[in-house]
Parts: sequence; structure tokens; C-alpha cells
Amino acid sequence: MLIVANWKAYIEDLEKAGKLVAASKKLARATDNRIVLAPPAPFLGAFALKNTSRIAYAAQDVSATTGGAETGETTAQTYAASGATYAIVGHSERRAAGDTNTIVAEKLAHALACDLTPILCIGEKERDHDGQYLAFVREEMTAAFAALTPKERACVVIAYEPLWAIGKTAESAIGPNDLTEMVLYIRKVLSELLPGKSASRALVLYGGSVEPGNIRDLARATGIDGFLIGHASVDERTFAALVKELS
Ligand code: PEP
Repeated sequence: MLIVANWKAYIEDLEKAGKLVAASKKLARATDNRIVLAPPAPFLGAFALKNTSRIAYAAQDVSATTGGAETGETTAQTYAASGATYAIVGHSERRAAGDTNTIVAEKLAHALACDLTPILCIGEKERDHDGQYLAFVREEMTAAFAALTPKERACVVIAYEPLWAIGKTAESAIGPNDLTEMVLYIRKVLSELLPGKSASRALVLYGGSVEPGNIRDLARATGIDGFLIGHASVDERTFAALVKELS
């Protein structure tokens, strides 16, 4: 399983960040699961640069630009040079701040060009009875993959994160049956977008109110490949409990 801890802007204290990194290294030594930390950019630089541990680091986002006179931007190249090997792209909080499907596609291409494994976030805002949410998710995937080569498409990790389930509690997260259905649908769309058999090898994660109380059910019932975890990843004990549930 791939466990991605999206710290968002929850951690603003270097000492706390250091403790979480140390605890995650310890967890990584005791589990076969792959732990990826996505700290805020300056902390990523502080911890990822000389990383020799089993954990990996992800950018929470990359710039849509590739460098130059772009004050305040952090490019994919900069993240790669700072030790990141993954990049979250298209997170709903970035989409809410203005990232369109076109911008997400550009960011995806920049991440790939810098050898960062992109974690492409997709997910509907709400569920409707007519199944429009399926078309919405399909469109997000199709738009993101449009300009990529078949080889590049095969490198993208998908994180299904329905907006209605983000930032709540386990009771508000998706249930195992609905998630199973959604993962099947995502794999079906992937089989149309990816070459040969690579859709079956693609990693599909779930994110949205994953907590110790629901992670095992979600993992067992759906056969998905891992989780993108927000608020529950920034508390040392809760994160340890999550990793243990999957071990
Ligand atoms: C997220 O926003 O990526 C996320 C998974 O958040 P949370 O776990 O807090 O719902």
C-alpha cells in the first residue's frame, strides 16, 4: 500500500515537523507499506534533501510555470532538486484556488518532465442520482491525460478524493461498496487512456476522511492501492495507528 501524508498547512512548526518525520521513519522501518510525506515546501527542503530513509517526499503542488521571473512560484524542477520524488497535482484545494483542468494538465506535464511521480487528484463535488459525477471524474482524467504520451500516462498515480468527503470524520467518508464501484470505474477509464495492460498496474488511491476507524475496511473491501491522508496524518499517534491498521 502507498500511504501519502498530505500535511497541507497544518504543520507550521519545524520542531513538530521534525518529530513527525522521525516518527514516520520509524514506522517505515516496521512496515512493508510505502510512506510518502508531503510537507509544506520549506520543510520538504529541510528534510528531503539528504533523505536516506525508506520514506519518500511529495510536493503538495507544483507551479504551472517552469522557472524565470515568477515570484513566489515553486517549480517541479525545484522540488525534484530538493529531494521530492512525488508531486500531488490537482488537489481540490488547489482547484478551488483556480487550477482548471488545463492548468492541472500543465502541472502534470511539468512534474513528469522532472521525474516526479504525479499523484493526480480527481473527485466530484457531490453525488447526483443521474450519475453525472461519473462523467465529471472521467472529464478530469481525460483532460489531465490529453497531452501526455502513453509512457507518461502509465506513470501517473490516481488519488480519488470526492470533495464531499474531505476534511470530515470517518462516518462521512465513502463506504467500502461505493469506493469499490468508483475504483472499478476509474480503472475502466484508465483502460481507455493507458496503453496495453498498464491500467491494471496503475495505482489508485483514496483520500477523504480516512481515519483509524475506517482505513482497514476501505483497504480490504476495495482492493485499492493506498490512501492520501490529510488531517489524520499530522498527529503522530493517529498516523501510527493508520499505518499499523494496514500492516
Ligand atoms: C485531502 O484533502 O487530501 C484529504 C485526504 O483530507 P482529509 O484526510 O483531511 O479528509
